[in-house]
Amino acid sequence: MKEEEIRKREVFNKYLELSAKDVEVFFKDKSRFSRIDCPACGSRELDKALEKNGFSYYSCRKCDTLFVNPRPPLDMFEAFYANSPSTTFWVKEFFTPVAEARREKIFKPRAEFISKMLDGKRNLAIGDIGAGFGLFLEELGKIRDGDKLVAIEPSAEMADICRGKGLQVANKLLETVDPREYQFDVLTSFELFEHLYNPEEFLSRAFNLLKPSGIFVFTTLSGLGFDIQVLWERSKSVTPPHHLNFFNPWSIRTLLKKTGFQVVEVSTPGALDWDIVEGGFTHEGVSPGRFFETVSKYGTHDAKASLQSWISDNGLSSHMRVVVKK
Ligand SMILES: [Zn+2]
Repeated sequence: MKEEEIRKREVFNKYLELSAKDVEVFFKDKSRFSRIDCPACGSRELDKALEKNGFSYYSCRKCDTLFVNPRPPLDMFEAFYANSPSTTFWVKEFFTPVAEARREKIFKPRAEFISKMLDGKRNLAIGDIGAGFGLFLEELGKIRDGDKLVAIEPSAEMADICRGKGLQVANKLLETVDPREYQFDVLTSFELFEHLYNPEEFLSRAFNLLKPSGIFVFTTLSGLGFDIQVLWERSKSVTPPHHLNFFNPWSIRTLLKKTGFQVVEVSTPGALDWDIVEGGFTHEGVSPGRFFETVSKYGTHDAKASLQSWISDNGLSSHMRVVVKK
């Protein structure tokens, strides 16, 4: 897979530009921001890591979780996600044109992974948190029968799209879904965790919505992943106000322990780290440092592929996947 297939460079850059402008409008009053401790281990021993779009990121000295601090209050995020020009642009100009490519490259393999994991189990209640266009549940429905598929999606627009696909919809934030109304065998959440205002509360709510032995699978960004570490403040993944939390394969375990989940698997099956770094270098002149410039110039296709495999196999990709059990 190549970055360009699922994310058009120019459109993505335009989106980042719009986001930076939105920050000036939606997050203007910095006096409303408040300091937090490490969202993984609770430590107060923090080092300032970088600044971007008027936001500061701190890194925890104990567990290396990278996070936006101080944090704007929740209502600022709600207004931003409901009304900002960059959010509209993301849905209409960024996501929609690559939706079908993403279905093939991302959502189908995801559905296959989950289906394999659930092999032999039938008639399950499966909820996808932040279901968006419903692509994952749609793909899962194609390869499994008899499940109750629920899209948990706060945006009214996207919730309608999911309904149009015949999915059952809870048009709300996970945090407001009533456990007396819904109990799931499986919950999934893809690329949402890094956006969360309060990750610990989110995990507790997910825990309460699962039946005993229920499974929760989520993917997120690892701050100790290759492209983020190499590019750091120039990484397009490190962008406020969207990405607030970068846990890592080690610190996420600390948080999961607190919330009562049993860890089944923490892995980094990412495929794009090298491509992101090399693409930034060859198309935008963003230097990855002398050694990786050399790899880009002289490395063979196989050398680059084995570098990516090494990154993924050793927990060092920025794309992290977590499987936990209640
Ligand atoms: Zn920490």
